[in-house]
Amino acid sequence: MAENREKTTDQMKMWKESRATQKPDVLTTGGGHPVGDKLNQMTAGARGPLLVQDVVFTDEMAHFDRERIPERVVHAKGAGAFGYFEVTHDITRYCKAKVFEQIGKTTPIAVRFSTVAGESGSADTVRDPRGFAVKFYTEDGNWDLTGNNTPIFFIKDAMLFPSFIHTQKRNPQTHMKDPDMVWDFWSLRPESLHQVSFLFSDRGLPDGYRHMNGYGSHTFKMVNADDECFYCKFHYKTDQGIKNLTVEEADRLAAANPDYAIGDLFNAIANGNYPSWTFFIQIMTFDQAEKFPFNPFDLTKVWPHKDYPLIPVGKMVLNRNPVNYFVEVEQMAFDPSNMPPGIEPSPDKMLQGRLFSYPDTHRHRLGANYLQIPVNCPYRARVANYQRDGPMCFTDNQGGAPNYFPNSFSAPEAQPRCLESKFRVFPDVARYHTSDEDNVTQVRAFFTEILNEEQRQRLCKNMAGSLKGAQLFIQKRMVETLKAVHPDYASRVQAHLDKHNEDAKKNTNVHVYTRPGVQTLSASSKM
Ligand code: NDP
Repeated sequence: MAENREKTTDQMKMWKESRATQKPDVLTTGGGHPVGDKLNQMTAGARGPLLVQDVVFTDEMAHFDRERIPERVVHAKGAGAFGYFEVTHDITRYCKAKVFEQIGKTTPIAVRFSTVAGESGSADTVRDPRGFAVKFYTEDGNWDLTGNNTPIFFIKDAMLFPSFIHTQKRNPQTHMKDPDMVWDFWSLRPESLHQVSFLFSDRGLPDGYRHMNGYGSHTFKMVNADDECFYCKFHYKTDQGIKNLTVEEADRLAAANPDYAIGDLFNAIANGNYPSWTFFIQIMTFDQAEKFPFNPFDLTKVWPHKDYPLIPVGKMVLNRNPVNYFVEVEQMAFDPSNMPPGIEPSPDKMLQGRLFSYPDTHRHRLGANYLQIPVNCPYRARVANYQRDGPMCFTDNQGGAPNYFPNSFSAPEAQPRCLESKFRVFPDVARYHTSDEDNVTQVRAFFTEILNEEQRQRLCKNMAGSLKGAQLFIQKRMVETLKAVHPDYASRVQAHLDKHNEDAKKNTNVHVYTRPGVQTLSASSKM
């Protein structure tokens, strides 16, 4: 029935209705020249060749040829929305950032949710972590909290990031997803097990983007007005409640509605059902960090809530859909190095690697002037510096202001209040190994204390369902890693693998399709 159509399905109709009282625009070329005929090429005779002087055609075609910008290497498929962050609790004793200045203060935000490994046309319901990136447009420049829907990650040293992502992408020869690549890497790097366990648990298939939590994941540093520093972590808890998909439902949606999560977010906002999250921090003093049993900057670990309780800070509400997807979402560029005074990086190796990698990517994808693009522009601050020119400069390029520093002709002044905090480092410079730290204690707590019996069963089944696609020696190595966490974890996964391996021996026609990190289906069971 037409009246039951979703807002996404009716976008064209709504566009027309919004223009009902306006005269139609004059059709033009990109240069603004009115066009007489947009249906027919200019040819020498009705059956003759095209003329080069058909600039109406070449103007359109040449632009079309250049429509795609490079796809994001990770987080290629996503949805964006806009709204505000409101402070509900005072945390100025920890942080001087203007965004937290006073209770009741609101700051405009942009958010992009995404899957991680798939291409921009891939299904929204695959088993994968979800990106959860928030841009706060503050008066001191933008703050990008570029996180995920998990408080941890697969690796803790950014040196491994390109290799890790390669394992999640396509085999260099077959151009197919490859379970050997995925499980070889994970079983060789035991620090990945915490995140792998989250991934194959129920939360690995969130029901859209509204029903999941977000986390800044990294450890950051907060600085207060007296220049006292604290380590901190950021958490957003969904006010919609956690909701996950079953494996069967996720598979069905991947075929029937691969844009499920994008549509769910758009429709909710278009219907005035604005999603929101409650924002918390965890705080650790420098002294506590010294005594913490783990490396507090290790991205594969959490800070236990009982020792570092969640402190409420505010509320994040999404109440506007993008007006145009390409302009406001595809061009949206998040960068963990976008930090206003009061928020600073910790020594987290992954965060330090991302401080370089993200802006580097944006300069490649969007160009040196990507911060001039309206969705990325720190529009609540006034940019005054010595950066000039570059491709696609579309501001006034800072007019006649001197382009060198220091200068004697009205230079912008440095702000001592914004000096980064001082911190001391003693150690030797070296390439320190990290994989041999304790990689099991928190996974064990997750398996034995957080998950209930049904959730444990599903975790083991889901994991085996993907691991079975890998070579036997990789399966064995992975099960050995699980043994160190809990014998039950290993034996349950092994039991599922044994069953599959027996079935595979009996039936040589069983073909295994595995999207890495995704439940595996045998062809026979789907036919
Ligand atoms: P707590 O019991 O205080 O916290 C456990 C947390 O686990 C919950 O607050 C919830 O965090 C999260 N959780 C609950 N159910 C699930 C689930 N099915 N899948 C994933 N996460 C779930 O214990 P600790 O803080 O001592 O942590 C114990 C273990 O819990 C950790 O080793 C880690 O594996 C896991 N965990 C801890 C988190 C933390 O920040 N401390 C966060 C998430 C998981 P939330 O409300 O953020 O979803």
